Amino acid sequence: MASKIPITVAHGDGIGPEIMNATLRILEAAGASLDLDTIEIGEKVYLRGNTAGIAPSAWDSLRRTKVFLKAPITTPQGGGFKSLNVTTRKTLGLYANVRPCVSYHPFVQTRHEKMDVVIVRENEEDLYAGIEYRLTNNEVECIKLISRPGSEKIVRYAFEYAKQHNRKKVTCFTKDNIMKMTDGLFHKVFDEIAAEYPDIQNEHWIVDIGAAKMADTPEAFDVIVMPNLYGDILSDVAAQIAGSVGLAGSANIGDRCAMFEAIHGSAPRRANQNLANPSGLLLGAVLMLVHIDQPEAAERVHNGWLKTLEEGVHTYDVYTEGQSKQKVGTKEFADAVIARMGKTPQTLKAAKYSHRQPRQAGKAATAQAAPRTQLVGIDLFLEWPSRDPNQLAQALRKVNVDGLPLSIISNRGLKVWPDGIPETFCTDSFRCRFAGKQQDATVTQRQVIALLQTMADAGFDVVKTEALRNFDGKPGYTLSQGE
Ligand code: NAD
Repeated sequence: MASKIPITVAHGDGIGPEIMNATLRILEAAGASLDLDTIEIGEKVYLRGNTAGIAPSAWDSLRRTKVFLKAPITTPQGGGFKSLNVTTRKTLGLYANVRPCVSYHPFVQTRHEKMDVVIVRENEEDLYAGIEYRLTNNEVECIKLISRPGSEKIVRYAFEYAKQHNRKKVTCFTKDNIMKMTDGLFHKVFDEIAAEYPDIQNEHWIVDIGAAKMADTPEAFDVIVMPNLYGDILSDVAAQIAGSVGLAGSANIGDRCAMFEAIHGSAPRRANQNLANPSGLLLGAVLMLVHIDQPEAAERVHNGWLKTLEEGVHTYDVYTEGQSKQKVGTKEFADAVIARMGKTPQTLKAAKYSHRQPRQAGKAATAQAAPRTQLVGIDLFLEWPSRDPNQLAQALRKVNVDGLPLSIISNRGLKVWPDGIPETFCTDSFRCRFAGKQQDATVTQRQVIALLQTMADAGFDVVKTEALRNFDGKPGYTLSQGE
């Protein structure tokens, strides 16, 4: 018997307590060796005036056990309440969201009989860093951040997951034909790390056509790794088209802590009626058992559950007249799984888990000197209510700093001066690029300060600046469209 692993459990709101009780009973019957510590989260905590929905003392438990099995919660209506999931994810550094999306044909209705895709979504970066600004009267922006260490962690996690679970291929989705620097970095890191796993196939798709292919032919994919935004959207699409939204579990993994849950919410209208399907949370718990290295228990639970599904014992949400054999409530469904513990499914693919293999360490980065950086210009963002770039260029003639001339003006990324055309629509937010005549002519901070001083003297409101820097001689910025 494995030594008991401490885990933190929260029963949540709505159907949460019922599905958690069912799940815990099944885990116990499977011989999972757990030492439970229960915390309170969700609606009651929010309504006591705690805007995070989790009491400070609960963090002590989470920091001690580092493993969190969480039932869904209800976020009260009205503003001011922070998403508990986002808080937990950020506080505990849970950078990977893992969601297996599987169809269970012919026992659960699905459009895709052979779907078995795992979405690995980056959880901390991208447009979700929450860095947004109102630039002008008419324009706002959101900054998309992609870091090399953040990309390395998630891509390596996807390959390690594939290795541990005997998956054959890892696919990467990005839009690096447009976002050459941000998505380009994610793709580059993917290619570098893929080379360290020669036994696992790898491929990259542009996210739009990749998403279309996934929705149409999901059996062409195995594990798919993506930056945050694409992963958020496509993990829901994948779960939905598998036909298993109510059956899907997910894991949020960090270097030190991990959280496991169902992907559905607290379904308050179904609460306290012994109706809810505990499968999503149960499959979340299976991911947890694999994570805490109890693969035998994970296999018993998963296969007993598959066998129950296969034998037509279904809760109301997946019950189909003519196909299902018995409609059961939450408790009876748990009993049915427990009764089938140790059995394996006949038609559905049996689950097979092995003990955790040591994680492959990343190739030690060869000590590289930090790149040589060189300031070559500055972008100044201005509000210009008349929205006429030629008039703006005319006004900017008053601004003159030696060695730092105005080179282009762009609007929403498109070059509109010099040589713009009147047909182009402009907003009130312009980017004015000041750079040396030669692309690699060094500009000093003093020149930039002098430029800003002249701008202020001439009455311009600069709303934002971005330095144009070369890294080892290569531009660390993109050209404008049309430049
Ligand atoms: P929901 O997922 O709770 O319910 C959507 C539909 O699916 C409902 O018709 C419900 O009856 C059904 N359903 C969901 N889970 C089921 C299950 N296990 N068995 C049977 N039927 C099930 O989504 P919602 O109604 O939009 O949200 C309800 C509450 O849940 C909201 O307060 C929301 O904020 C919260 N929520 C929490 C989480 C979480 O804690 N991770 C996630 C999503 C939503």
